[in-house]
Amino acid sequence: MSRPPAPCGTHSAYTRHVRLSEPVDEACRVAHNTYQRDYSATLPAAVRLRYALRKDARRHALIRLGEAHPDRLAELMAELATGGQRGWQVRPAARRRLATEHPAEFARLHAQERAERGLK
Ligand SMILES: [Zn+2]
Repeated sequence: MSRPPAPCGTHSAYTRHVRLSEPVDEACRVAHNTYQRDYSATLPAAVRLRYALRKDARRHALIRLGEAHPDRLAELMAELATGGQRGWQVRPAARRRLATEHPAEFARLHAQERAERGLK
């Protein structure tokens, strides 16, 4: 017997949506934000800063990858928009897909962005 899946509005449901590339609904997005905020509050400031820099490095690497492949990014965005992704999720989700299509290029951009922030 397996457990029933966690209901929407929980952090577990949020991670399931992401794992299965499903659209994230508002209840799960809010649950994830709360979870991250609560978890982050338990960490020392230096660790919080490093996490913020890492997140920023990844985000900027994804943006630069999208800028390098504007036509493919537009195609992926069109696919995701018809696949039920919410408007504000479409561009970041399309950039993440682009990273799976260009892993070496993304790794290079990500390394550059990390280096600019003094991260390994
Ligand atoms: Zn959900």
